[in-house]
Amino acid sequence: MAIHVIDEAKRCLNCKKPMCREGCPIHTPIPDMIHTFLEGDINEAGRMLFENNPMSMICSLICNHENQCEGHCVLGRKGSPVHISSIENYISDYYFDRLKFPPVEKNGMKAGIIGSGPAGITIALILARRGYDITIFESRERIGGVLQYGIPEFRLPKTILARYKRKLWEMGIKIRPNTSIGMTIGIDDMFRDGYSAIFIGTGVWKPNTLHIKGETLGNVHFAINYLTNPSVYRLGESLNIIGAGNSAMDVARTALRHGVRQVTVFSRSDHLAASPHEVEYAKIDGVEFVVHVEPTEIVDDGVYFVELDCDGHGNLSPIRGTEKLYPADSTIIAISQGPQNRIVSTTSGLDVNERGLLVTNTFGETTRDGIFASGDVVRGAKTVVEAVAYSKQVADAMDKYMRELGDS
Ligand SMILES: Cc1cc2nc3c(=O)[nH]c(=O)nc-3n(C[C@H](O)[C@H](O)[C@H](O)COP(=O)(O)OP(=O)(O)OC[C@H]3O[C@@H](n4cnc5c(N)ncnc54)[C@H](O)[C@@H]3O)c2cc1C
Repeated sequence: MAIHVIDEAKRCLNCKKPMCREGCPIHTPIPDMIHTFLEGDINEAGRMLFENNPMSMICSLICNHENQCEGHCVLGRKGSPVHISSIENYISDYYFDRLKFPPVEKNGMKAGIIGSGPAGITIALILARRGYDITIFESRERIGGVLQYGIPEFRLPKTILARYKRKLWEMGIKIRPNTSIGMTIGIDDMFRDGYSAIFIGTGVWKPNTLHIKGETLGNVHFAINYLTNPSVYRLGESLNIIGAGNSAMDVARTALRHGVRQVTVFSRSDHLAASPHEVEYAKIDGVEFVVHVEPTEIVDDGVYFVELDCDGHGNLSPIRGTEKLYPADSTIIAISQGPQNRIVSTTSGLDVNERGLLVTNTFGETTRDGIFASGDVVRGAKTVVEAVAYSKQVADAMDKYMRELGDS
């Protein structure tokens, strides 16, 4: 592994205008990091990665590299790009447990973070290092959000999240697991108890529905619910998955690893929403694909789909008389998620848009003073690196807000 990483690092051309960096949504200093590593200073290379992206170890495993850094590497034009993700992973993984922060003087102000996904963890790590007393409120047992309860173990080992938790504890960050804000306690209670600013990073956990007959049947489930704990489900021998995004690929590959023998993914379009790599892996794992179909009804022994006609401009319409049953023991609906409204419905002054997503300005300020937000609960279902990039900006805005509050 190390030899491979060093060989890959040596292939980097150290371009004057690094396209890899431009293609990275968080602008990782890739050539500098690689050359510092090759000069023998892995700790400095690790520091560069962490300072730019506190979730570097995770992003190195699950970002869509073929569209981002590696997809922009000039070597990829004529051959294979530098395998940047492996280099980043090797360095970040080595560095993370060695990471020690110098002691900071506490500034006496408290910030509350709701949600421990990538957005919440990023804000917590940044603000704790600036002297704030941080508490994370997490409705589930473990930290990580989708990293813990969505992305399967074979793509992202959960031990990484345990390492993050230890790091947060080491930094004096308090974590309240099994605590859902908007239930027993709410945002107004937090302000009452002296939090100067509150961050909402609660993601999108309410599955979108198809609004067709059969969604309440006993063998029909939603992707995000299934992925939360696949071992408690009994799916049978065959599974139909409606939707073809990355969540659908995760469901398909997880189900095959939990004993389902035949998995079929159904998509309206032949342009699948999942990234090409995820589709390739799913195919290698044995997943079948059926495209240009739309579900019309789910029944106990499968799903009825109708074929779709494409007019050449991307408009799809059902073809009469083509409806047929695709049999399966279970069905999983994987057509993305929207936000839950537990916090919004119990907190005055928080505006949401027509999709229920929190309204913020570019600094993550919501419509209520002192409350900030970022990640999927603002932007809808996106990616980890986007949540981190946005949260870095929001952490700065929260810092500025609290300093001004302290000065007034
Ligand atoms: C199946 C799946 C696979 C994915 N794969 C990838 C991938 O490969 N690469 C990639 O970059 N992105 C991927 N994504 C997207 C990515 O995981 C998200 O964009 C990212 O996790 C968003 O981070 P977040 O912090 O905004 O929200 P989340 O990760 O959703 O975290 C929100 C947290 O808030 C908690 N919470 C919610 N409500 C409350 C409350 N009222 N009180 C307290 N806590 C609360 C939740 O329990 C959760 O822990 C995937 C998403 C899914 C669903």
